[in-house]
Amino acid sequence: MTAQIPANPASVEDGAAQYVQSLVDHWDELIDWERRKAGEGGFFDALLSGTGARRVLDAAAGTGFHAVTLAEAGYDVTAADGSLAMIEQTARNAAARGVELPTVCADWTELRSHLDGRFDAIVCLGSSFPHLFDAAERATVLREFYEALEPGGVLVLDHRNFDAIRAHRYRSSGNFYYCGGVQVSVAHVDAERCRFRYEFDGEVTHHLEVYPVLADELAGLLRTAGFESVERYGDFRAEFDPHGADFIIQVARKS
Ligand code: SAM
Repeated sequence: MTAQIPANPASVEDGAAQYVQSLVDHWDELIDWERRKAGEGGFFDALLSGTGARRVLDAAAGTGFHAVTLAEAGYDVTAADGSLAMIEQTARNAAARGVELPTVCADWTELRSHLDGRFDAIVCLGSSFPHLFDAAERATVLREFYEALEPGGVLVLDHRNFDAIRAHRYRSSGNFYYCGGVQVSVAHVDAERCRFRYEFDGEVTHHLEVYPVLADELAGLLRTAGFESVERYGDFRAEFDPHGADFIIQVARKS
């Protein structure tokens, strides 16, 4: 049996609107950039260089971890996010590391109207895509990503392992993506909503709600959007336990 979602109107906004300034201020504490980098082991750089990508869009930049590390690896990166507070933090983090990259505040549904030209690769990481609750909007956004890619381009989308979470087998090794030792737990999950609770230093508590997309469901949506092939990784490995991985990474290729 699952608990009911507590009544708390301030924390049940959808999408980017959930990223209030006080959560944005704590986001890098949740990540721990050095430990996240170690956990990924250069996965995205190897993947993108393998496709010959040069121009990369981080469509859910957050505080900029992937945009900045990919720019440092030599890619021509544009950072976008639907939250102004988040994208402003990306700009500050990039400047602090001596990285120059364009930052754009843009909702995924109207991405192309904010951007020039097409990209060789789009990344949407850190379990961002599950912020879309509406089925029609999920289809629209995947189509928007598809259209923003060059022929032969690649879309890299990830999500927490909701197959496991919906089976009430949530676990987090703390080794991937969110490595900062912040207490993350599932306050509620059903087929339509998953509510995560984040405890920072036992003092500040935030909640985020997402749509708990299943891995096969997302792969099907990617194919419907037009992608020719979809590969799947668990915690950056091609061979993985489908109920044991913390995060699922899906790589969709445009023909
Ligand atoms: N990629 C970053 C990371 O890994 O740390 C941030 C991940 S955070 C879970 C999700 C991000 O997606 C937030 O920065 C949020 O503002 C953004 N987002 C959610 N819905 C969005 C939408 N409809 N359009 C653009 N950005 C959105």
